[in-house]
Amino acid sequence: MACMAFEDLVGLIDSGDIDTVLTCIVDMQGRLMGKRFHGEAFLDMAQHETHCCNYLLATDLEMATPDGYASTSWSSGYGDYVMKPDLSTLRSVPWLEATALCLCDVLDHHTLQPISFSPREVLKTQISRCEAAGFSPIMATELEFFLFQGTHDEIAATGFQDLRPISNYNEDYHIFQTSKEEVIMRPIRNSLRRMGVPVESSKGEAEAGQAELNIKYADALATADHHILAKHAIKEISHQKGYAASFLSKWHHDRVGSAAHIHQSLWHGGENVFFDACAPLAKSRLMDYYLAGLLTYAEDYTVFLAPYVNSYKRFAKGSFAPTKIVWSVDNRTAAFRLCGEGTKNIRIECRIPGSDMNPYLAMAAMLAAGLTGIEKELDVPEPFEGDAYIDDAARHIPGTLRDARDRLLGSDVLESAFGAETIAHYARAAEWEVEEFNRFVTNYEIARGFEKA
Ligand code: ADP
Repeated sequence: MACMAFEDLVGLIDSGDIDTVLTCIVDMQGRLMGKRFHGEAFLDMAQHETHCCNYLLATDLEMATPDGYASTSWSSGYGDYVMKPDLSTLRSVPWLEATALCLCDVLDHHTLQPISFSPREVLKTQISRCEAAGFSPIMATELEFFLFQGTHDEIAATGFQDLRPISNYNEDYHIFQTSKEEVIMRPIRNSLRRMGVPVESSKGEAEAGQAELNIKYADALATADHHILAKHAIKEISHQKGYAASFLSKWHHDRVGSAAHIHQSLWHGGENVFFDACAPLAKSRLMDYYLAGLLTYAEDYTVFLAPYVNSYKRFAKGSFAPTKIVWSVDNRTAAFRLCGEGTKNIRIECRIPGSDMNPYLAMAAMLAAGLTGIEKELDVPEPFEGDAYIDDAARHIPGTLRDARDRLLGSDVLESAFGAETIAHYARAAEWEVEEFNRFVTNYEIARGFEKA
């Protein structure tokens, strides 16, 4: 499935079939940010470059202007970045009238060099490193999310009190309940396929109102692009149909959280080099090293898999979300699950990422860890068997965002892969999330202590 060729866009703008081009960067939170160009203006100028305020890569979910970023600040005047369209990502947006979309890379306004901590650039750098070692990273993400009655605006007007999932029972694999949701899910699947995102399937997930979308594996950059386009489509199409989609990792303490598992394999010459027909499980030595890297440095990169305070509430015993850094063969209590054993589709699934992760950063961080495992030829332990939740010997996934941030700051492996500037940037992002959370008094604290303290 191809994206749109530039000549096709020219023709569609000429004929009036396209009149709007969304020109977007991916921000630190994994969202599309940018401008809506008139088609003719896109062809006249924006196809070459356009600009955005550089706070877009130093802000939070609420568009705040936190201090502490070296890249920009009030004292440096919050200047511009260049948004450089990557014309290979051009595609139509089927659920919006006469609209196309183009992703952009982010460049320094003066030197025109890529901004190293821009999420797409962070991933591109690790992919180049992987390719220099002779491998192409092939990945897939699974998107879990909740669908709620009413739009986001209607829910916000209730102070987020009126949160009614679209179904009232666990709809895991249910066909009848998901038929009721087809008004949303069918246009999501079909629109994404039409824009070159190879959706495989959707299904009900293991909680009331929870859904999952599966997209076929692709090279890592395409997979990250597919992920954010799918997330965007899910939110916009749900809104158009009068519903709200949420990718919060954990929206209620008594409900299951939402994950975004990442499947990984390395390929060479069109073949999966994690496959070795002669080895036990058909798991190659190279896969052992990569997996050992993922395990050894898991704490160092957790912050990229769980970037908010809320993300850590998902890691609960008996919830299908992992708590322990162990690997297993087809065992959903472990953080890493070997899938497709004995077949050419052998791969490792990391179950740590929440649905709120930024796929570019998460994949880049895991590639950095896995490649280090290959470089150092690290030993992989025996696979875990049984219930990982109750294994006291196993290492814990960091329990809080502060712990994860501290581990990132102490990581030589991540620093040498990402560079000190990028590490400091994302450590500041995490610290800001903790600072903001600590400043707020929550409903939970009032209910617990108002009278009883
Ligand atoms: P599940 O039963 O967990 O949903 P699937 O068989 O649907 O598992 O696969 C989950 C994901 O793994 C899909 O998105 C699929 O494209 C991806 N996948 C399959 N083979 C590979 C591979 N070799 N490398 C990376 N991802 C893969």
